Amino acid sequence: MPLKDVYIRNLEHRTHRSGWLRAAVLGVNDGLVSTASLMIGVAAAQASTNAIVTAGFAGIAAGAMSMAAGEYVSVSSQTDIEDADRKIEAGHLAVDPEGELEELAEIYVARGLPKELALQVAKEMHDHDALAAHLRDELGQHHKTRARPTQAAVASAAAFTLGGLIPMLGMFAPTPNGRTTTIVAITLIGLVIAGITGAKIAGTGALRPTARILLGGSLAMLVTAGIGQLVHVTIS
Ligand SMILES: [Zn+2]
Repeated sequence: MPLKDVYIRNLEHRTHRSGWLRAAVLGVNDGLVSTASLMIGVAAAQASTNAIVTAGFAGIAAGAMSMAAGEYVSVSSQTDIEDADRKIEAGHLAVDPEGELEELAEIYVARGLPKELALQVAKEMHDHDALAAHLRDELGQHHKTRARPTQAAVASAAAFTLGGLIPMLGMFAPTPNGRTTTIVAITLIGLVIAGITGAKIAGTGALRPTARILLGGSLAMLVTAGIGQLVHVTIS
């Protein structure tokens, strides 16, 4: 690829990826941290290998389903709002096209166009596709960034499962005592990889998101291990 094309490629905007990317990064991160924390918490209570593995798999299944349901509901409500807005806007346009034209022109004036040009642009927009212009310039709805509920649900469930399977590798540690350490180490490595990959896809710097993800993950594991130990001490 010629250098110029590489340069242009790197300058491509990534906002249109934000919907599923956010769900995927969140899913992997969540899967890693919650499964690892769950296993560490159970291990801290001196549980058997069987119990730790069961906790891990149950955690993955529960987390993936809950992520999928959560994403579906949250993205659906977002699209419901957008659809309702679209209907209202279409109604306004049908009832008061002149008023809507003025409204659009005012938006362009507020963005820096002179009054006359703004009116001219608004007229052209109305001739071309009035509803699309109002949705975009008045309500900020963009077709490209519109999130799809099913896509978000599947992406986050798959991502959570992928993330959750990583700490499971800690069960292959040579000694039972080394398990917790291995789970923590593997999870931290996984978080670093997830952070860097997310940043790469998003086209942003990797340092800050990775540091954020590491700090949050470590804190979560620490707190859960503490609670596991506490519960073990209290009930045994
Ligand atoms: Zn309008």
